[in-house]
Amino acid sequence: MSSAFPPALTRLIKNLGRLPGVGEKTATRMALQILRWPAPQARELAGSIGELHEKIRLCSRCFTFSQEDPCPICSDSRRDSSIICVVEDPGDLLAIEKAGAFRGRYHVLHGVLSPMDGIGPEQLRISPLLERIGREGVEEVVLATSSTVAGEATATYLSDLLQDRGVRTSRIACGIPMGMDLKYADKMTLQRALAARVSCS
Ligand SMILES: [Zn+2]
Repeated sequence: MSSAFPPALTRLIKNLGRLPGVGEKTATRMALQILRWPAPQARELAGSIGELHEKIRLCSRCFTFSQEDPCPICSDSRRDSSIICVVEDPGDLLAIEKAGAFRGRYHVLHGVLSPMDGIGPEQLRISPLLERIGREGVEEVVLATSSTVAGEATATYLSDLLQDRGVRTSRIACGIPMGMDLKYADKMTLQRALAARVSCS
């Protein structure tokens, strides 16, 4: 990085560059833009970042990010508690919610099985899922992990585990291209994939 930049600017560029999809060029453009902003606007950005870890926790039931525990979805009595949609991360939950395609509850795994990276069932929120199923009278689990190799392997693992316990499982269907991360699917595709879910048995 150019040493022509003052250290404070270099520091911000370095920090922004840690974000996904942001290279040094983009980080530099962003940092220069923030520098052009009025100071209160820049402080507002810094403040909102600082607030994240103070205010946001994981919902103790579904493990999504939330300021309340349980989260608004878990505490909404109008939602169908007999069906749980299992997703990889909170971003996927958000994508499905935005599509308005699902009226049940969710469970966030926070990853997918990936033995090469040392991620086994114990590293994911799988045992709390099994506990919920017994406790909350869940009848169907929709496996909405991505159609990547790891996402498919995770869905198969969970489907076997759940069927052994007599729970109906289904997998979101057509429209999600192989290898695609769920959260980048468009609204229509997600709606159709949920509606046309197929039984795993
Ligand atoms: Zn929740």
